[in-house]
Amino acid sequence: MVTEGSIKTTAQIVSMKLAGEIVAKALIGCENILKVGVTTKEIDDFLRTFIEKEGAKPAFLGLYGFPATACISLNEEIVHGIPGSRKLIKGDLVSIDCGAIVNGMYSDHARTYLIGNEKNIVKEKLISVASKALDIGISNSIAGNKIGIVSQSIEEYVLSQGFEVVREYVGHGIGTQLHEPPSVPNFGKSNEGALLRVGMAIAIEPMVTEGDWKTRMLDDKWTVVTKDGKLSSHAEDTILITENGPEILTRLKK
Ligand code: MG
Ligand code: MG
Repeated sequence: MVTEGSIKTTAQIVSMKLAGEIVAKALIGCENILKVGVTTKEIDDFLRTFIEKEGAKPAFLGLYGFPATACISLNEEIVHGIPGSRKLIKGDLVSIDCGAIVNGMYSDHARTYLIGNEKNIVKEKLISVASKALDIGISNSIAGNKIGIVSQSIEEYVLSQGFEVVREYVGHGIGTQLHEPPSVPNFGKSNEGALLRVGMAIAIEPMVTEGDWKTRMLDDKWTVVTKDGKLSSHAEDTILITENGPEILTRLKK
């Protein structure tokens, strides 16, 4: 049986919008410190301070025992990297994944950055394909569509660009918890999955790999890397399904 996502109340939506806005601002703010020589712990400290100053709580800190505010994953690391003393070097591909909680409601957001103005066609393409795949998935997040339409559109686009999508980790419903039903895979068929309905919220998060999509977990029991050691990138937004189409909660309104 396919489990559908919960329908949010008006008050819950107000809180989710604020949680989304705070995490969007936090990631934009941290772009200023993403330079050669900065440690991943310093990036994490910036995000924690920012989120707490805005009156929100970091969503990941302590969740399932995770020890930091953000998951920071470099190069062949796909997701769930633990911030620490590692210093960024020129050419690092850095994925930052972060969430906030406002009045018990969650947001979830990730972007990948290339450090130090390196010109590298593959790395730049990995970032742009993950980001475009996310946008394509969002454009299909319409009430009445099955999640499979979102999934298939993401997979088809990524494959058409010569990359692969990770299968062992997927997007998810979001609301009073970070991870709620339904699953939002980045692969699949249009007739699969839960039906999107007005008032549901989902986190869409394509994880794109340069080589094979298979993954491996490091000894820290958190960091997920590509099995073949090739590069990956990650992009994520929290989306509210409205009667007027998808509303992206983790991007600032223009
Ligand atoms: Mg995330
Ligand atoms: Mg997520």
